[in-house]
Amino acid sequence: MKHWFVFCGNSLLLTPDNKLLEADDLPLPKPEENNIFSLKDTAGNSYGAFSVNEIPTYLSLKAIPLRESFSVLTWEIYQLAGKARELVYWDSQTHFCGSCGNQMTRNTEISKRCTKCGNEVWPALNIAIIVAISKGDQILLVQSRNFRRDYMGLVAGFVETGETLEEAVRREVKEETSIDIKNIKYFDSQSWPYPSGLMVGFTADYASGTLHLQLSELKKGGWFTYQDLQQTQIPGKESIARKLIDNWLAQHSPA
Ligand SMILES: [Zn+2]
Repeated sequence: MKHWFVFCGNSLLLTPDNKLLEADDLPLPKPEENNIFSLKDTAGNSYGAFSVNEIPTYLSLKAIPLRESFSVLTWEIYQLAGKARELVYWDSQTHFCGSCGNQMTRNTEISKRCTKCGNEVWPALNIAIIVAISKGDQILLVQSRNFRRDYMGLVAGFVETGETLEEAVRREVKEETSIDIKNIKYFDSQSWPYPSGLMVGFTADYASGTLHLQLSELKKGGWFTYQDLQQTQIPGKESIARKLIDNWLAQHSPA
């Protein structure tokens, strides 16, 4: 293995010059093979992933929150780091069988089996939808109470059991804003390893109803024009929310 994704909590450990740790100079004791995951990039280079409970104070390593590592890693390595984080998180959450409570052991690279009852588990995804809603020359932007910074984003929410993605889009929009939408179209999807999500992006058009925000979920929101958006803080480039907003901006540029 050439490089390591080593996590401490939700942070990725990097050298002081923002490089992944290398196999030759890995300054940390490796855990048991059972708790190490293997990954490959598109060029076939190998990576290993594991987590540590604490960083020895004698090491001059940087612990950078995974989401912020976007700014210092290439897109491909950031994505791979996300996958690595999902695997070590899954590992940390599945020490014991959810069915009988006995010890789980690694069965394949991405599955575990209960040592007693044989119950098998794989990493599970929490699926969320996110939607850019257009109304003439305006887009609906909202600020969720979950946002950690003061920016405006898009309506989003988790898909519920038994729902299609489109049903989830329609329901979330209705619940959070009271409006009805039409022309729901798939846009793109993105792995969202915080800690194990898949974001599925859609575009849609306003159909009917008056905007009425669900204040338990949203702090503020409203219809924004292209010009309004020039003075508005929007999500970072690492997010599908930003990709959806940039797509809308490209289609509504006055130039
Ligand atoms: Zn079991």
